[in-house]
Formats: sequence, structure tokens, C-alpha cells
Amino acid sequence: MRAVLLLGTFLLFFTTSWSVTDVHAAETNEPNPYQERMKLYKKVETVTQIPWYYLAAIDQYERSIRQVRRDLPKPDSVIGIYFRPEEWAGLSNPNPLEENPAILQFFDGKGVDGDGDGKASQKNDEDVLYAFANYLLSYGVDHDNIKIGLWNYYHRDKTVSIIAGKAKLYKHFGRIDLDTQVFPVPIRSNHSYRSTWGSARGWGGRRIHEGTDIFAGYGVPVRATNYGIIEMKGWNKFGGWRIGIRDVNNTYHYFAHLSGFAKDLKIGQVVEPGMIIGGVGSSGYGPPGTSGKFPPHLHYGMYKDNGVTEWSFDPYPHLAKWKRIERMNARKK
Ligand SMILES: [Zn+2]
Repeated sequence: MRAVLLLGTFLLFFTTSWSVTDVHAAETNEPNPYQERMKLYKKVETVTQIPWYYLAAIDQYERSIRQVRRDLPKPDSVIGIYFRPEEWAGLSNPNPLEENPAILQFFDGKGVDGDGDGKASQKNDEDVLYAFANYLLSYGVDHDNIKIGLWNYYHRDKTVSIIAGKAKLYKHFGRIDLDTQVFPVPIRSNHSYRSTWGSARGWGGRRIHEGTDIFAGYGVPVRATNYGIIEMKGWNKFGGWRIGIRDVNNTYHYFAHLSGFAKDLKIGQVVEPGMIIGGVGSSGYGPPGTSGKFPPHLHYGMYKDNGVTEWSFDPYPHLAKWKRIERMNARKK
């Protein structure tokens, strides 16, 4: 009975605090969550020697999967890392909500007291971040050992490479507010697009159309829409010359039918919104180099990874929003 009551309070805490902070942040000039996060990453880096950008990458990865997973509570705090209560307290611990650090250690739980208040609390951001860092510490603080630690934690290659990609991004830019997005072709270029997601394909290929086609002249610049890492680049029978970029929210952005690639672009490279990655073309539907089987257009696809699987979703509303925001910003200048 007590456990049920506690769990009830726990859930209530999550749901209410989320909506409250949401409204609160909108109404007042709250401290910027990026700054608060960065402060915590740096603090834990100082103590553990684990580079802040790995901590930031793990935190952002977990925050992103929680946004789209039904089996995990939505992120409700500055730090997005989530431990299941039994992981935090230890599998054989009869009390999954235990906060006494000594008892958690006894039961081999991952929970620790990071801020020195005597409690190892999942509601304390510093405790949560420190607990993950503490887990990684048992492997080591360099890139290779962190990757081994991450593999043993997630048991998924893709997750490890997504986190490593984010770490590279954060390290490269030296900051974590990498959310700016732009439209994939210059907004002043001559182009047209409409919502065609899920409709039948005009040009063979897979059964449903997983993306939005942006029609524009041959060679019109194609730009990275987000801060991200080039995850894929090359030829595919259907997509022609294409590029895939993973952003900081685990979203994969797919650009197909390009006329060619920008010079020196390579897999693993860091890109930023607006950077030219290629040109609009009509490549595809044949062996490498085949072109001209349909009018030139950019096929733009978006895919979300939730740590278990990846699925495509409709880019149209996002494209429309990015264009609107870019137009607004252009007017302000
Ligand atoms: Zn298409």
C-alpha cells in the first residue's frame, strides 16, 4: 500500500511539476536552462575528469528519447538523464525509492549523492548527472573507454555513435544551444513544395513517400538545416546522390536527388544551419550518375530515433515553420 501511494505521489510530481515549470518559464525571465546545464556539466567534469561535452551528449540523448518514448517519463528537469527506480536503488533493493547513499551502494544501485546533501535523490539534477559520470568512471575518462562504458550501458551501436556525434558537436562549437534551424534551400530562391507525405510516389521506389519534395532549379544550393553530423553520404539507386545529417535531437535529416556534393564534405563532419552541402538535382533511379528521369527537386526526409527504433515523420510542418522563422529574421535585419 505504501509503495503504491509513493508511486502515485511520484507520478503526480512528474506531471504537475512539468506543467508548472512550463508556464513559469514562459511568464518570467527564468535562468536559461542551457546555462544551468552547462554549469552542472562543468562542475561534474571538474570532479570526475569526464569531458563536459560527453556529459552534455548523454544528457541530450536521454532528454530526446524521453520526448518520444511512452515507457519513460517526460523530461521535467534541467538534467534529462533518467534512471529507472530499480537501477537507481539497486535491483535487489526492496525499496526502489531509497535515497540513503550507503544503502544504495550496498545494493549496487547507480544512485549517488552528487551535491553532498546526504541524499542520493533522483529529483536532484546534480545527483543524477553525477551518478551517470560515476558509472562511466569505472571504465575510464578517455574517448575509447567512454564508448565502451556507453556500449555496456545501452547495448546498442547506434546509440553509442549518436552520443559520440553529439559530443563532437558540443566540443566543436564549445556550447550546447545548437537549436537554430533553416529552410534547406535559400528562401529567396525560386522553389515550390507542398505536403505530400505518405502519398504514392511519382517515381517508383518505396511504397509510400517518406518526405517532402521541394522543386527548384537544377543546381540551387542545398543547405544543412540544423547543427549536426554527416552520418551518410553517397549514391543510392533510388535517392541518387544523397546526404544524411543527424541533429542534436536524434533526428536524421535526409537530402536526396542532389546534383552533387559541396567540396570536401565527408562522413563524420560537423555542419551548421545554412552551410551548403550540395545542389538541387535529379539524380537517382539507376546506376551511379543516372540523372534526369524526373524534374529536379530536393527530396527532404526526417527520421526520429528513440533509442530502440527509427521511423519517418512528415517534414512538411517543420519546413513551413523554418521558412516562416527565417523570413521573420530576415525582415528584422
Ligand atoms: Zn521525394
